[in-house]
Amino acid sequence: MFTLSPLPFSKEALEPHISARTLEFHYGKHHQAYVDNLNKMISGTNLEKESLEAIIMKTAAEPDKKAIFNNAAQNYNHTFFWNSLRPVAEKSEPSPKMLELIKTDFGGLENLYSEFKNAAISQFGSGWAWLVSDNGKLKILKTPNAELPNGEGVKMLLTLDVWEHAYYLDYQNRRADFVEAVLRNLLNWSFAENNL
Ligand code: MN
Repeated sequence: MFTLSPLPFSKEALEPHISARTLEFHYGKHHQAYVDNLNKMISGTNLEKESLEAIIMKTAAEPDKKAIFNNAAQNYNHTFFWNSLRPVAEKSEPSPKMLELIKTDFGGLENLYSEFKNAAISQFGSGWAWLVSDNGKLKILKTPNAELPNGEGVKMLLTLDVWEHAYYLDYQNRRADFVEAVLRNLLNWSFAENNL
């Protein structure tokens, strides 16, 4: 049985960029539903005792287990997303070490923001934008629906949820404004660095 992982900040902590009302639905309803659906789907099966990561790996290439994969991966991605964010009041900047990597691989922080934003707004329909380390090189990726980056040597550092449920209450159709607000104000750079 999986439980909803605790939100690492209060529901008001991301305001005005992400409202408490959005978190009530996004965390309290959407994320909770992925956890509940996953528990129902694996109950009484040989996946019941597996870790979330193992369930994702074992179902990713199995078309008849797509619904289990989707709920497991969405559970994982959402926990990763909450941890990719930090309260507005807690300023967070890339460390000198991280800035050096960013300079090498993107040419600077502004270029990273602009690639991240471009990935986030060009993901057609639902999905995720990611900062990853691909065998030591920082890269921006996007994935559709519940998919997450994988591959030898790929480490996820940060993610941004671009499903409409992530921003519709606060920004309606303006995904670009949501993305810009998160990138500039809410990224948790120490989480990113701990994932290196
Ligand atoms: Mn979401």
